[in-house]
Amino acid sequence: MARVSCQSVSLRDGDCVAIVGGGPAGSFFAIHLLQEAKRRNRRLDVVIIEKRGQTDQGADSFQCRGCNFCAGGISPRLDAALQEYGLVVPEEVIQCHIEHVWIQGQWKNFRLRVPKGMQMYSVFRGSLPSRRSGRPGGFDAFLLGEAAKKGARVLYGKVEAIAYAASGMPRLMLRSKSGERLSLEAGFVAIATGINSHGCLDYADDALITSLKCLNPEFVPGKSRKAFIFELEVGEDYLARQMHREVYFLEYASKRLALEHTALVPKGRFLTVAMIGKCIDRASLPENSQQIVRDFLTLPQIERILPGLAAAPIACACAPRMTATTAESPFGDRFAIIGDAVGSRLNKDGLFSAHVTANRLARTVLDDGVDRKALAQGYGKAIRWLAADNRFGRIVFGASRVAFTRPVLSRITYQAFATECKERDERSRPLSAVLWKIASGTADYREVFREMCGYGVLRSVLAGAAVTLRNVAVEVLLGLKWGEYGRYPTVVLKERREELKEVLASSLEMELGELPDCERMYTIKIRGSKEEIMTELGKFGHPEAKFLKLRLVEVRQIRGAPNQVGSVIQYGIPLVGLGAELRLTKRVGFETLLYQVEERLADHGKLIFNLASTKDGNSRLSIYTAFDYKRGEGFASRVLWKVIRLLFPEFVHDLVWNHALCSIKEEVERRHDYTPRP
Ligand SMILES: Cc1cc2nc3c(=O)[nH]c(=O)nc-3n(C[C@H](O)[C@H](O)[C@H](O)COP(=O)(O)OP(=O)(O)OC[C@H]3O[C@@H](n4cnc5c(N)ncnc54)[C@H](O)[C@@H]3O)c2cc1C
Repeated sequence: MARVSCQSVSLRDGDCVAIVGGGPAGSFFAIHLLQEAKRRNRRLDVVIIEKRGQTDQGADSFQCRGCNFCAGGISPRLDAALQEYGLVVPEEVIQCHIEHVWIQGQWKNFRLRVPKGMQMYSVFRGSLPSRRSGRPGGFDAFLLGEAAKKGARVLYGKVEAIAYAASGMPRLMLRSKSGERLSLEAGFVAIATGINSHGCLDYADDALITSLKCLNPEFVPGKSRKAFIFELEVGEDYLARQMHREVYFLEYASKRLALEHTALVPKGRFLTVAMIGKCIDRASLPENSQQIVRDFLTLPQIERILPGLAAAPIACACAPRMTATTAESPFGDRFAIIGDAVGSRLNKDGLFSAHVTANRLARTVLDDGVDRKALAQGYGKAIRWLAADNRFGRIVFGASRVAFTRPVLSRITYQAFATECKERDERSRPLSAVLWKIASGTADYREVFREMCGYGVLRSVLAGAAVTLRNVAVEVLLGLKWGEYGRYPTVVLKERREELKEVLASSLEMELGELPDCERMYTIKIRGSKEEIMTELGKFGHPEAKFLKLRLVEVRQIRGAPNQVGSVIQYGIPLVGLGAELRLTKRVGFETLLYQVEERLADHGKLIFNLASTKDGNSRLSIYTAFDYKRGEGFASRVLWKVIRLLFPEFVHDLVWNHALCSIKEEVERRHDYTPRP
């Protein structure tokens, strides 16, 4: 029966506070409650009831059997909150520190660096996958341990129902691990059961949740949708070389495999893949699991970004539910619901929402009271925040889905992003900032939505649309076809340009010259050795080369041996009878090639190829091209050179070299066998 409250009710010293569920929300609540109670000189008896049993790692371990179904990404915002409350996640719990986040759209990938001063990492939540060796540390066990350090007692057993006792206190009916039926009366109960402990049941049909409806008939559980997670055992070497400190978010799969959002998160020697989308909503799981895994791993974009993955053994798979909306009226006299059971941020950062609801509830309980009215006022703020965040989240994800999945819009978005990276200072890239916030979950969706509609993003997108239109026209004109090749970003960030020039100058032991009329740089990471890439570069101007095959421009090696000083490449435009020669004038081992342009068409023309090793044991190919336009002497000559300048604008280099770099990358990479060896 619902109780009618007439006056504010507060907890008294020594009162018992029961928390149902020892997941992150339950532990965060215990930690905040005990920490804040101590500051206020108050004493509470906090007991956490967790239905999963301990693993056999010893009594001091709070590691529970099984797992809490999660990709295990800790967002910078949650990390900052953990630091604020002095919760230092041990290194053995952290599985991978993340430096870059990739968003994979229909057209190209977006690489976003985790900003300086922010930390993002991955963790295992529980004891799975079972193939993990040693004492596998999990994030949930760490938090439960911290709650215990603050004074919480942990009781292992399942809470089956809740009702008000004659005293007016909520009473929990529970079954201990030994099967004993117990009851526990508490001054306040926090329900932190998540939404995934009910087998195939929707959590709204669970007995405990149903009994909550008797306590507050206005309580309406939130809605959820199906998700699918699997862990691949790929081995540390594979992850170090193919995914060094990176996470991937795929916003598009294929027409057949209709996925909306997929996260690929490295953890130790495993790779977690978590996905949602229409095909998961419709799938019958676990029956269709194998098929979905196979379809996903053989997607062309997966073969490109993580080659050989399809051969990796599956360590475990599950089909949990993910929250989609926020519960209504999730509190009543002396009880409240927190964490996923009340709702979480859409598609991202559920652990942070668990922290927010737990923290807000702890403060309300201590400062405002535990009756329904006090909870509605104090804790209600967190619920309103979550509900609003979900509403804006749906708009943000709806818009970004359109931007990433429609080929034309995806291309425009990419061009807008690339143009910002190339031309604008790091701190004034509005589109990049919005993309980072969407990918990392570091901001409320209301803020993301506001920025998405702001002038800065609009200006970048319009610029991107104009560049796309122009590029498409030039691609058609030059006959550049992507066909089998993947499209990779080759932009050198504005803040990295001088650094790259210094590397080239030092390798060649020469000055590159100040401010040429035209200066362009490109870079790409290639999974291959410098020698292999150099061999591919040796095909420059050869009929078997897959790069620089252009419709109106003929590129041929006319003298010397490939990659050897003295070799000459001729660029000819037969249609207008124009041509220029590039002579290889310097080679530095397997590192740098310097071609210089004959002075007939341009002054001080250089084309430099440079190879460097990357941190993950692969190679980076960079291209630098620069020249001064001829000015001409006399009126007629000056006009002629101006016309030539107009006919061959600088941006044509961007298209041609981007295509060339992508082709070189694929030609080198397809010779390798990347099969993971766990
Ligand atoms: C596919 C997927 C991927 C995700 N990836 C991420 C991510 O990368 N980053 C992120 O921040 N969030 C992610 N989330 C969200 C995140 O997992 C949740 O937001 C988070 O687990 C919520 O914590 P919780 O404590 O509320 O619930 P849970 O983690 O589900 O914990 C609930 C606990 O209560 C216990 N329990 C349940 N019923 C009872 C009972 N009757 N009696 C006693 N104990 C009980 C359970 O055993 C469990 O330990 C993901 C979610 C899904 C579905």
